[in-house]
Amino acid sequence: MRGVEVGQGLATRALRGHAVIDHGRVSLRGSDIEEYTFVAEPDFLFDLTAIRSERGVVRFVAEYGFLFEARDAEDDEIPEFLKGGPLVYYWESLDDWFELTSRLQTLERLYDHSQRIASVRDRYSIQTIRNMVAELELPVPGSGGVSDTELEFASEEARLVWQASLHIASTLTTELEQNDARFLVSLSLTPPRFALLPASRTLAGHAWLQLASVILQGLDLTSCQECGRTLIADDPRRRYCSDRCGTRVRQRRFRAKRQKPSSS
Ligand SMILES: [Zn+2]
Repeated sequence: MRGVEVGQGLATRALRGHAVIDHGRVSLRGSDIEEYTFVAEPDFLFDLTAIRSERGVVRFVAEYGFLFEARDAEDDEIPEFLKGGPLVYYWESLDDWFELTSRLQTLERLYDHSQRIASVRDRYSIQTIRNMVAELELPVPGSGGVSDTELEFASEEARLVWQASLHIASTLTTELEQNDARFLVSLSLTPPRFALLPASRTLAGHAWLQLASVILQGLDLTSCQECGRTLIADDPRRRYCSDRCGTRVRQRRFRAKRQKPSSS
């Protein structure tokens, strides 16, 4: 008997290609559009949260595609310089992109620093969460309708972690619901084995599912010592996000070594 894939066909259809940034939009035109089926990969989330600039958006769209449900442009919305080719043109708002990446980053940071407080009582992490709790105006235990006698006598770190975790849980719940994101069963019958697969209509939903999955597994995060991109700290020897970053550091060290004797 062959395997049965329950949930097949629910994979995300994504649009990717050579994107153009124009008037607050990221857009793709007909000749550049590739439609493909997105299967979540671990790098996807961290590539997304590493985006800080418009160039980062262009790179991301080339690799993964649009985040939301790309809007089909009206003829009069198509910029002059894109006309003349096949008149299929999709776009998304850059503001929406940066808003989403910043919300994901916030949650990623809150989670990461909460983990550090729990494991190493890192001073910097305590200060970071203190600042974030103030900035996000998260409810204080024992005030504003939230009361927990035990928490009132707990350490400041414990209360900060409590505030952060409430925020993480409620944000994840809302975002997963809004993005119609869920886990589906993939089942093979011989031998009987199942796997849970993240499924969402849009790439934005997949990003929330992946973040939820990282948090559910209690994975520790760290950052690339070259570019700062977040990675999963599964191997303490792993310091760089990619071969590219590792090679860059080695080449720099190599050049520095070679220059030293001549300069002294
Ligand atoms: Zn890196």
